[in-house]
Amino acid sequence: AVAAYDRNNIFARILRGEIPCKKVYEDEHALAFHDIHPQAKIHVLVIPKGAYVSMADFSAQASDKEIAGFVRAVGKTAEILGVVESGYRLLANHGPNSHQEVPHLHVHIFGGQALGKMLA
Ligand code: 5GP
Repeated sequence: AVAAYDRNNIFARILRGEIPCKKVYEDEHALAFHDIHPQAKIHVLVIPKGAYVSMADFSAQASDKEIAGFVRAVGKTAEILGVVESGYRLLANHGPNSHQEVPHLHVHIFGGQALGKMLA
């Protein structure tokens, strides 16, 4: 079963412009912005504009266009951040075991420094 989407979660409010963010990239499918508590020199979040809690419901319910748009936005954001050559890490938490805090799908981009093997 897929968790119901809470339209007042913090990223939904950022998408509606109710809460400010430090924007990196935006298009019709996605928004990328700096994490408020960076865990690496570069720490950016990319979110789809649709109401999806996690990769599970996004992959099951989003249109091919939304999925392609989101994946392209992640790649574009990495390019804008200038981390493609030096390297970066993508991470998406889903559910209680992963300590997902915000119930709107987001992919973390970590970079700008050598990263450990895993980020907790
Ligand atoms: P999660 O643990 O759900 O994968 O990651 C949520 C991330 O969102 C955390 O890294 C946290 O610092 C970030 N975050 C939480 N609230 C805000 C906010 O209001 N603005 C921004 N830019 N990031 C936030």
